[in-house]
Amino acid sequence: MTTDTSTTELDAVVVGAGFSGMYMLYRLRETLGLSARVFEAGDDVGGTWYWNRYPGARCDSESYVYCFSFDEELAQEWTWSGKYPEQPEILRYLNHVADRFELRSDIQFETRVTAAHYREDLNRWEVETDQGDRVLARYLITAIGCLSAGQIPNIPGRESFEGESYHTGAWPHEGVDLAGKRVGVIGTGSSGVQAIPVIAQQAGQLTVFQRTPQYMIPARHGSVTPEFLEDVKGRYDEIFEARRWSQGGFPYDPAERSALEVDDEERRAVYESAWEQGGFRFLQATFRDIALDRRANDTAAEFIRSKIREIVDDPETAEKLVPRDHPFASKRALIDTNYYETYNRENVELVDIRHAPIEEITPRGIRTRDGEYELDIIVFATGYDAMTGPFNRIDIRGRGGAALKEKWAEGPQAYLGLSSAGFPNMFMITGPGSPSVLSNMPVSIEQHVEWISDLVEHMLEAGVEVAEADADAEVEWVDHVNDVASKTLYLLADSWYVGANIPGKPRVFMPYAGGVGNYRQKCDEVAEAGYEGFVLHSGEPVAAG
Ligand code: NAP
Repeated sequence: MTTDTSTTELDAVVVGAGFSGMYMLYRLRETLGLSARVFEAGDDVGGTWYWNRYPGARCDSESYVYCFSFDEELAQEWTWSGKYPEQPEILRYLNHVADRFELRSDIQFETRVTAAHYREDLNRWEVETDQGDRVLARYLITAIGCLSAGQIPNIPGRESFEGESYHTGAWPHEGVDLAGKRVGVIGTGSSGVQAIPVIAQQAGQLTVFQRTPQYMIPARHGSVTPEFLEDVKGRYDEIFEARRWSQGGFPYDPAERSALEVDDEERRAVYESAWEQGGFRFLQATFRDIALDRRANDTAAEFIRSKIREIVDDPETAEKLVPRDHPFASKRALIDTNYYETYNRENVELVDIRHAPIEEITPRGIRTRDGEYELDIIVFATGYDAMTGPFNRIDIRGRGGAALKEKWAEGPQAYLGLSSAGFPNMFMITGPGSPSVLSNMPVSIEQHVEWISDLVEHMLEAGVEVAEADADAEVEWVDHVNDVASKTLYLLADSWYVGANIPGKPRVFMPYAGGVGNYRQKCDEVAEAGYEGFVLHSGEPVAAG
């Protein structure tokens, strides 16, 4: 890249205008008084919630905690209507945030960042977009999400299909008319299990192509009462503080007992109660060792298996739905509404593609080893190239022109999931090696944005030009991330957490499983120790090039 007269100079470039990019912009502008521009590929704010408009899309975190906490008035004035926030409502919330803080004036929409190269001669990031922008910025902050690079499997014949096909993460904004159609859904992860019950109600016939059966906990979705909202709003300080120091970013009282220290009857009663309440409580507030001890986990897994057999009328279908090959919650725990019940409908068929794999997509539908299924619409609920995928779509180069993609070829390397050695002044919101996807995202996002903002403030006050992760500190952190993961059950599943869904991706557990509270404490200690593990350069540019 070269610098010419059309280059804009800014303090900071932020990539992405979802929860993280919007709050980062607010902090850079309002708290630090810096000039910043956000580049956003979509034509409006929202990130994940802008793109994911598939039927049934909503968040699995309860609405009263799936929100920002940084502004008290914002928290008080917004009223959620449902126990879980639905996609249109989250998008309205994020639009409200954009309006309230007048963020749009510094967001450039319909613009994708294509390249960001660190100019060592200037100590600046040179950022290019697909709209021909060229910006020089001191700070580059990625707010690109962990699950924004959609993945459609390379099934032979895909292009030959004569019907319509959609990925859940790029759903048409005008919606899709499913009435009377023969719809096939490939994938039964979070997106698939939300979409399937709703599609079943709209479509003429629904065929679900399932590779791995999963464990699901009922959401128990419904509306929230004014009394409930009044109560939580009255306690928001306490709730937000509990979120910050929790394991997963939820204000639930953590479970203290082991699943193995109670008798069968009591254990079942605990699970029944959590099953009735619904949601992540089943995982986080029943027994402390479900995610850590295989025998404890087996008790939860067996409980869910018994529920599947109770709910699904046809025993053969029930057995196809029963997960056996991985522990409960070793893949992302799934929260559903009428998922298993959907298989009792006349117009729904479950195809076990583990047993009879998809061989090709034909002009008329999907052909598995057992036969052809004729379809009008194929829905790919097939997930994402998670965590590293969004980075790999941008040509990011640090010192000496080194490509981030190459540095991360064997797995992501980042100190605290915030910064990668050799990429000075580049900060990652919810980057790999941080709790991110294992937590209630707004909590992790706020923590990162505030920590980055504090670091930048420190740099400005101390005359520090460049902050960069120290290579040794990075290695140590990555080792710690792996060590913590090895003590959990996460490594026992082929999940996107370990990149197993992407052919050729190295098998590395990418998020930090040590918990939101512990992680926050570590980040705070690093800051208090003068940004230990970072190299801070002052004054003149450190190299010419
Ligand atoms: P996902 O969890 O990766 O699920 C993808 C599904 O597609 C899996 O069932 C997978 O089967 C299947 N699949 C992938 N490639 C396939 C292939 N080649 N052939 C057949 N089947 C294939 O993706 P997702 O459902 O989009 O969810 C991704 C993440 O986004 C979630 O884990 C969650 O963190 C987030 N999310 C959250 C919400 C929410 O809060 N409610 C909603 C949606 C998404 P295998 O299991 O066998 O790989």
